Amino acid sequence: MLWVIGIIAIVIMGCTAPKDDDKQEEVRYYQGESIYLDFPFEHGGRYYIGQGGHQKSQNYHYWNEKYNKLGINVSMRYAVDIHMIGEAGIDREVDEATSLDDFTMYKVTLYSPTDGVIEYVEDGHPDMGPDDRDSENLWGNHIIINVDDVKIVLAHLKYGSIIVEKGQKVKKGDHLAKIGKSGNAVVPHLHIQAAKNDPWNGQPVPMLFDGEFLIKGDIVKVDCAYNELEDK
Ligand SMILES: [Zn+2]
Repeated sequence: MLWVIGIIAIVIMGCTAPKDDDKQEEVRYYQGESIYLDFPFEHGGRYYIGQGGHQKSQNYHYWNEKYNKLGINVSMRYAVDIHMIGEAGIDREVDEATSLDDFTMYKVTLYSPTDGVIEYVEDGHPDMGPDDRDSENLWGNHIIINVDDVKIVLAHLKYGSIIVEKGQKVKKGDHLAKIGKSGNAVVPHLHIQAAKNDPWNGQPVPMLFDGEFLIKGDIVKVDCAYNELEDK
């Protein structure tokens, strides 16, 4: 397991999956009925879970004063931030990023993690520069997919990249958008969360990606996929 930096590594896309999750089993915990999703990226590489899990120490979304004041802590409880490891480490192709293209996750294609119906699309927020973020529009450009009244939010998408529209049925693996740096994002990454009935205030739904409840520090290796990053 040469490439295991964190706690667990899984290989998706139908390849063998070396796993070592014994030592962290006790922190890999969630409550309530979960939803099974596909990992939403097919671009080959190593993805890093920056935030995820049920503990304050694992997941910034789980308890955050600002979010609490906005009343959105509950729905975000099991939110996961998915980053990617680049040439210069987590998120970065170079040590000092001077443009968005220096970030590994920028413009990576996002695929639908589920069958469902597009319930909401918001575009029009600019991708913020390496040192800026839009704290007024937390999710920036985002898509909400409805699956049996569970609302899946996919946020921080690239300006103008969303190719689905409200009311459209989507299938697992459908191209949805590209990853950007819109909204309150320090670096380009995907924020994904699931909540029952109401994306902002609904009861949080734990997400299992290819059967795994991902927590902070996990690395997901995607191979057996094409490696060309379109449009980059
Ligand atoms: Zn997030």
